[in-house]
Amino acid sequence: TIGADLARTIARFGDREALVEVASGRRWTYTELGRAVDEVALGLLAKGVRKGDRVGIWAPNCAEWVLVQYATAKIGAILVNVNPAYGVHELAYVLQQAGITLLVSAVQHKASDYRGMIEQVRAESPALREVVYLGDRTWDGLLAAGATVPHTRLDECATTLTADDPVNIQYTSGTTGFPKGATLSHHNILNNGYWVGETVAYTEQDRVCLPVPFYHCFGMVMGNLGATSHGACIVIPGPAFDAVTTLRAVQDERCTSLYGVPTMFIAELNHPDFASYDLSSLRTGIMAGSPCPEEVMKRVVAEMNMAEVSICYGMTETSPVSTQTRRDDDLEHRTATVGRVLPHIEVKVVDPSSGVTVPRGEPGELCTRGYSVMLGYWEDPARTAEVIDAARWMHTGDLAVMNDDGYVRIVGRIKDMIIRGGENVYPREIEEFLYSHPKIADVQVVGVPDEKYGEEVAACVILRDPQDPLTQDELAHYCRSRLAHYKVPRHLHLLDAFPMTVSGKVRKIELRERLAKELG
Ligand code: ATP
Ligand code: MG
Repeated sequence: TIGADLARTIARFGDREALVEVASGRRWTYTELGRAVDEVALGLLAKGVRKGDRVGIWAPNCAEWVLVQYATAKIGAILVNVNPAYGVHELAYVLQQAGITLLVSAVQHKASDYRGMIEQVRAESPALREVVYLGDRTWDGLLAAGATVPHTRLDECATTLTADDPVNIQYTSGTTGFPKGATLSHHNILNNGYWVGETVAYTEQDRVCLPVPFYHCFGMVMGNLGATSHGACIVIPGPAFDAVTTLRAVQDERCTSLYGVPTMFIAELNHPDFASYDLSSLRTGIMAGSPCPEEVMKRVVAEMNMAEVSICYGMTETSPVSTQTRRDDDLEHRTATVGRVLPHIEVKVVDPSSGVTVPRGEPGELCTRGYSVMLGYWEDPARTAEVIDAARWMHTGDLAVMNDDGYVRIVGRIKDMIIRGGENVYPREIEEFLYSHPKIADVQVVGVPDEKYGEEVAACVILRDPQDPLTQDELAHYCRSRLAHYKVPRHLHLLDAFPMTVSGKVRKIELRERLAKELG
């Protein structure tokens, strides 16, 4: 279990630093972290939280997030990660759907008045017994209540727990629709965090900078569990992503590893002050979550000193990581693929309509099986059955190509594939190509309805310099000699920013809907 693993790390590396919250300057060694986690765990017990109860957490990244993560795991409660960007309607849904009995929340975050929203939905959330606000007397109250509970209660909890018990309900990013609550066990996520950390060779010397949200598996599994299962230190640069606070945290905390979705690395590399930060302590890091452009990967290696940077591919439903690039892969494989399958997991690429495995080198739907596959969507067996088949293969909805050596390339999502006049067009391929255009800073390619071809290719572009515009003709000319004619974008849309999920992914579906509407 996660509690037992943390205890093992504390026993081995008690004096080493475990957690740093840069914004407040607060620091914990592993021994101190263990104590702080126990305080919270006892507090939750005092508040009546029992094995299997759902405890929600609705807060941006902060040290208490980590404490609550390990405290709930220790007492067998199921932590429900509530997306920091939710509004009142989504909050009501998740409280009800997961049956949250105790919610730990920030008072507010950015422009969102969390307390106000919670008060609004309380009446319609009968399961919700108690709300504890971080940094408020209710949090102190939780800790004070815990002080009256004998420590032996935690040992009793441990004896009733098994690794197959659910520990977490993680909602997916909502990139392609409404978020789904993946129920994950100790076995699922602890192993995954461990193997991800093992692949980047974490030791107690490592310091892992995490600007990625904890509410998402990238932060809480690949980040927190990846670090603590190897005795490495978690560094929280700030409550939400910001390029400058991240770069400064890497420099000041001498971080050896940095995580991010591609857009975060792009923002860091393109920041006007980028060159003024000392990133010489970095050795590795993880890029994941959405397609990682080769250009960006190469710049991360060359300009951020992250020679060993690793790409992970996965999804919330699979704990999350299925494939990962390794340190001894050559640069080509480390930048252009998502690596090979992790130990104890299987992957295969199938024809989505027949389910038959396709020959190596041909695109199809990636399926994965192993310890990493979730228990199921929370209280939604019908949806679970749509994605996990009778042989326990998880159908990812992602299109991939596997080569003879087992390296996987993600070529897109089935939902994003454009079918133009009978030809399959993978937006990813066109995006990769357009990144080489000197005027283009970032690009997304989507399909839009077309009378003649069913769908047409549209490019949504963020310019490097808004004063230096790009025309449709220029773009078409640039593509014509180098892309098959049916892949050349027929529509160009200039934008300042893309619609994003909180985990930093572009909501292509929203772009597509917007464009379809504009084109009437
Ligand atoms: P939803 O399922 O709610 O639409 P989501 O699929 O974005 O949202 P996550 O579970 O956070 O939610 O993300 C998993 C998806 O992210 C994968 O299915 C894949 O499409 C994409 N992804 C993750 N890592 C990579 C990667 N390295 N390269 C390309 N795509 C990736
Ligand atoms: Mg998904």
